[in-house]
Amino acid sequence: MKRLGLIGGMSWESTQVYYRGLNEGVRARQGGLHSADLVLISVDFAPIAAAQQRGNWGDLALRLQQAAEQLANAGAELLMICTNTMHKVAPEVAANTPLPLLHIGDASGTAVVDRGCRSVGLLGTRFTMQEAFYRDYLTQHYGLDVYTPEPAQQDLVHQIIFEELCQGRVEAKSRTVIQAIIGQLVENGAEAVLLGCTELGLLIPESERPVPILDTTRLHVDYALNAAMATAKN
Ligand code: GLU
Repeated sequence: MKRLGLIGGMSWESTQVYYRGLNEGVRARQGGLHSADLVLISVDFAPIAAAQQRGNWGDLALRLQQAAEQLANAGAELLMICTNTMHKVAPEVAANTPLPLLHIGDASGTAVVDRGCRSVGLLGTRFTMQEAFYRDYLTQHYGLDVYTPEPAQQDLVHQIIFEELCQGRVEAKSRTVIQAIIGQLVENGAEAVLLGCTELGLLIPESERPVPILDTTRLHVDYALNAAMATAKN
């Protein structure tokens, strides 16, 4: 397989899901003692989250570019940014690394379209739900209509991500809150719902009914395995 380079730690609660998922995926495909060939740069998330809050995206782009360079020097052949939100700076990162970027929006968009859906509800951080970088990616590349929750619900989702899931807390009452928001997106016409934050899968199970509820972490892992192992010789 090609060596995967992961930029993780945003938060590490989801990075460990990536690590396990990639290794399980290689074992499922190759069996025995086979495991994933990967290198990981895991950042300290506190200064990253603070810079997001300040809107300091230029510095964040530089930070991820530096991580991508370290991964390339460590022999990575493909690059993954293990968070939806930080794909806001994906264009800058991709433009400044020789490594092909496995964009999480491609993993997500492909999965929605493959299920025959033309509209999708999007849950994630406030940045992911409110700003254009993710929604427009899905629309421009996959022709999807993207629905987001109303602002008060967006605040709740954002709060659950940063104050609970990224800090290792999985609360039943928050699961109920998110499930109600998903229900409303479906009622509004979403044909599928993306758990567009890599920690949301820790709280909400994937499902195909009544509509596909898709975990972007798992989709990104599968997408990366397909890319890394497409030309595998052993
Ligand atoms: N992991 C989350 C995401 O997928 C949020 C953390 C971050 O801000 O990067 O968007």
